[in-house]
Parts: sequence; structure tokens; C-alpha cells
Amino acid sequence: MANLSLKHIYKVYPNGAKAVNDFNMEIADKEFIVFVGPSGCGKSTTLRMIAGLEDITAGELKIGETVVNDIEPKDRDIAMVFQNYALYPHMTVYENIAFGLRLKKIPKDIIHKRVIEAAEILHLTEYLGRKPKEMSGGQRQRVSLGRAIVREPKVMLLDEPLSNLDAKLRTQMRAEISKLHTRLNTTFIYVTHDQVEAMTMGTRIVVMKGGCVQQIDTPKNLYCYPKNKFVAGFMGTPQMNFFEGTLLKKGEEVEVTFAYSDQKITVPYSLFYKVKPSYLNGDCPVYIGLRAEDITLEEHKVQKSLTTVNIKISHLEELGAETLVYGDLNMGGDGYVESSTRCIVKLNTDMSQSPKIKFTSGEVVKVALNMQKAHLFDKVTEQSILPKIPQNNYLDCTVEQGKLIFCGEELALPPAINCPNLYGDLIIPTNAFYLGGSIKAKVLSCERIDSNYLTALKIGDRILYASNLQVENASFINLGVDCKKITVLSQGKQVISPLPQTVCLYGKLIKQKQKVSLRVKGKIKSKNQIVFRLEIEGAQFEVSDYITKKLISVLGAKKAFTTPLRFECNISDITFANEGIKAKVLNLLDYGRQKFAKVAVGEKQFFVAENGQGLKDAHLLINLNSASVYQADLNVKIV
Ligand code: ADP
Repeated sequence: MANLSLKHIYKVYPNGAKAVNDFNMEIADKEFIVFVGPSGCGKSTTLRMIAGLEDITAGELKIGETVVNDIEPKDRDIAMVFQNYALYPHMTVYENIAFGLRLKKIPKDIIHKRVIEAAEILHLTEYLGRKPKEMSGGQRQRVSLGRAIVREPKVMLLDEPLSNLDAKLRTQMRAEISKLHTRLNTTFIYVTHDQVEAMTMGTRIVVMKGGCVQQIDTPKNLYCYPKNKFVAGFMGTPQMNFFEGTLLKKGEEVEVTFAYSDQKITVPYSLFYKVKPSYLNGDCPVYIGLRAEDITLEEHKVQKSLTTVNIKISHLEELGAETLVYGDLNMGGDGYVESSTRCIVKLNTDMSQSPKIKFTSGEVVKVALNMQKAHLFDKVTEQSILPKIPQNNYLDCTVEQGKLIFCGEELALPPAINCPNLYGDLIIPTNAFYLGGSIKAKVLSCERIDSNYLTALKIGDRILYASNLQVENASFINLGVDCKKITVLSQGKQVISPLPQTVCLYGKLIKQKQKVSLRVKGKIKSKNQIVFRLEIEGAQFEVSDYITKKLISVLGAKKAFTTPLRFECNISDITFANEGIKAKVLNLLDYGRQKFAKVAVGEKQFFVAENGQGLKDAHLLINLNSASVYQADLNVKIV
């Protein structure tokens, strides 16, 4: 049993193929993790790096508390099951299962007990005397599972173990592997290209593409809240429909116009509260994603719906329990080819067989779109613009005599913000709320998501989202807004800007000879010793062994001392001190609950989360343990 930690893992093969790019994940003990993605996306390479069968080019891999980058596969306490079973043909099933334990010189009676137990779990007891060639594919794969489980590994790694089996056996073995996971109570990592396997087996799924992780989430969240168009299209069959279109906000409604057709629908703005206003101006192309089950042809639903469009039917696909109706929003389009107007509708077969409904190719029918279930993606980046946890709330506001007014509530602006009277747009990040201010809100829902909470709040007649409040459903609460995080725009110009929270400083790693006094045979001797330091903006800092080792291992022993480095730190990790980086204190900012000093280091100006009252010339210290270190020229994160 073990947890795993993968930090900034990269794999570049000797031929230059970049197979895995900055893979980061914490895997908890006993999780069933599935790596899924199209062929060549880097799933097997990642698994093989965990197994120790491939070197890790850069990054840190921990199993339990141990960094295992340089630990031999046999000493990692893992077991791996391969697609091709990898059984010894001349050995019996018993011998195949026992083989690994014999190599480890485990006493015979223990081996026997474990083999018998594994055979029972895997229903192999009656086959223990057979050779692999006398067994079916499914049975052979059970033997290779048996060989893995007798080792009682901390982590089980499975690389497409079911790909060689036919569809029926695959479904059966899928269930058996899930059962095995529950029974063994250990961490499983499973690689597959099959999204159905991923959805049915994983407690969490890692979706990969081109060596990059696209999303790590539970099956339900991947399905309901895909982070981008790729994940949305990869999970679920038939593939989600992606209609190209534009969105235009008109008061409390949004007009959705479908491209390459003259069709439009109108939806309440409340469905798109999470969407950045720049997508709602009518000329920013987006993809409107709707799954086939969220579009209906059922007459009574279509009649009641306010969001219907016409599609020209091209063909049907009968799948037994359901029928897929293929059509196109574009009357000149072809429902056979995937396009940004093609529309697939899922019908349950009862309905498609009902005598009232018959579809012929070329027929134009009305379908109702369930826009509550719509996904939206930026056409260029293909990232979701309707995320589960939004980053910001977008509102109208007025500023009157130092008071910010939104959703019918008033907030006194702190002395640090000097803003004229205006009518404008307000952006409140979802992490800017705190409990205990003057704004009254009703909690509509509060859901825990990973380490965050998604809280829907009713303030006035608007719904706002918070990501950092743990509050009770249906309760009434008083809120404050952290004004250093807000933005106010008036006629497109930023009038109030958030206080920058991070600072970039530049420097390099240096090594110096230092004389140290050592006591040798009772006599004090002076000796030269090499010490490492970081030189940042002209000041020298002690550096931890961890950072030095990381820099030398990633950049190489020579380049580590010449490569320009960028240090990114949070402003709360910089403090005034008697030594350190020379800085000038320019002015003070009073945000009420917190005060900040604006400082200049050379040409650079930034803020420090400390009151620099009375200081003019100052020195700054950085908490380097919390800083991120980048190779400045390539923008690659090293620490
Ligand atoms: P997946 O398991 O997702 O199908 P892999 O991890 O096997 O993908 O491969 C990821 C990428 O690395 C692919 O582009 C593949 O061609 C490349 N690759 C895999 N193994 C090697 C190798 N031994 N040498 C060079 N390139 C490799």
C-alpha cells in the first residue's frame, strides 16, 4: 500500500521524442488511477517510468516517502501486468505464478500459500497444472495478474491488460480487476486507450494527449465538467456535438447564433454567469458542446422547449437499446461527416420504433437543446469557458464617493483605492470573499471539490460563486470582499487593478571557496570548502541542498552556474530585514485589513506584504523554500 507523488516528470527519448511533458500528480493510497488517451499520448511511458523500466529525464517520483528515480525496478515494491501476459511457455500456471517469489528466495511454504490464495481469487485453482498454451487469453491474463498479486506489491501497474481479449471477456475481466482492487486494497495504476474502461474502473482518470495531461478528475467530473474540447470529445459515446457559434448578451438574455446556418436561440443569462463577458459580445467564436442525450426529438419536449433548432436528417444508427439520429444544422450540410454543424441525437429505441415517428433522409425536423447541459469552449484555445469552478464573477457596478455598489449591496473601498464616481464592470475573483463583512448572501449550495469548495451565493438577485468558503447550505451569511483582488473597468479601461501577488526576481547559482576551521588530531587546521549560494538581484542567499541538487541535475554541472534563473515568489514571502536585496520604499498602501509597501529594486517595482512605515532605504529577504525557480531564458520550471 502506498501513495505516489509525480512532480514535473518529463521524458525525452534518446531520439528526441518528447513522450511526457511536465506530468504532476499526487496519487493517494488505494486509489484506482487510469491513464487514458489516444495511442502515442505518453500513457505507457509514464507507467514505465513509475515501474522503473524507463529513466526519468527530469522530475521527481516518490513512492511512499522515498524518491525512487534512481531505485531499481525490483526494489520499488511494484508489480506490473502487461498486455501480452509475458508468461513463460514451458512453465505451468503454478510455476509461472510462483516464479517471482522463488527468485526472491521466499520459503516454499509461503510461496505455496500465496499461489493457492491467488489462484482462488482468480478462479485458476483447477488450471494450476496447465501450461499457458492450453489456456484462453482471459485465463492467461489471470495468470499474469496472479503473478503480480502474489508479490503483494505496494502498487499494481497494468498496461492495457485487456486489449488482447474479445469484447465479452473484456467486460468480464474489467469487473474482475475492479473486484481485485477492492479485495487487495492497494494502489492500482491502469493504462488504457479505451474510455469505457477508464470510466468504469477508475476512481480518478488522467486524460493525456501529446505527452501532456489534459485533466485529472473523477469519471463523473470528466463527463460533466471537461476542461477542454479534447476531454469533452474523448469521454462519452457518441462523441459530444460541437457546434460553432457566437454569444450575444442582451440584458438578462443571451442570443446564441449557430455558425454556417441562420439558426438562433435565446437562453437566460443566468446559464452563462460563469462566462467571461468578452465571449458575450456577439463576435467571439465559441464551440457549444451538447451531448447526444441532451438533444431531443421527443415531440412533447420539443413543443415545450424555448431552445429549438432545425436539423436536416441524414441517417440513423440502430444500436439496439438506443438509436442515434444523425443530422445537420446546416441545410446544405452532410450529417455523415464530423463538422461544426453536425448534430447527433440519441433516442431510446422505444421511441424510434413508435409508429408516429419515422425519419427519412433529407427530412427537416425540430430538435430541443437542453442548454442547462451545454458546454462552451473557446474556438482557438479549445479550453472550457464555462468551468465547474470559475475563477471570477463578472458584474455591473457603480462607484459613488468611495463606495462600490453591486447587486444592491455597498462596500466601502479602502484608502489604498482611489476611484472616481463611475458606472462600470466589476470582476470579483471567486477566492476574494471572506466571512464576516457587511454583504448579505444566501448560500444556495456548497460542494467540496478537491481542496476547494464551490459555493453558489445569492446576493441581491444575482448568483455569485465563491471557491474558498465552507458554509452551510441554505444559510444566510455576511461576507466581505478582499479589495486587493478586485478589478473595475470603466469604458474598457481598468480603473481599479488587483494588487500583484507574485514577484519575479532574477539571479543565478554561484559556488565559492570558503575557509573553514577543522580540528584534525587535536590541531585546528584551516581548509577550503566549496559552498553554494544564490545570487538574486545582487544579494547572496543561502541555498538548500535540495535546490542546489535540483539545479545541477537538471542544468548540468557546468551550466548550473551560468544559466540565468528566475525566482517567482509570493509577496507574502518577502520581508524587510537588515540585510538582503537593496530596495527603496516608495509608498504605503492601506487595504484596511492589510497594509502593503511599494518598493523599487533597480528598475523593478513591486509590493511587499508588510508595513514599511518609516522606511526609505530597506533590505529584502526572500523565503526561498516557497519560491519557484525557472530557467529564465527557456521559461522551464526547475524547482
Ligand atoms: P501510449 O502508451 O500513450 O500509446 P507511449 O508512451 O508508448 O504512448 O509513447 C509516447 C511517445 O513516445 C510516442 O510518440 C512514441 O512514439 C514515443 N516512444 C515510445 N517509446 C519510445 C522509444 N523507446 N524510443 C523513442 N520514442 C518512443
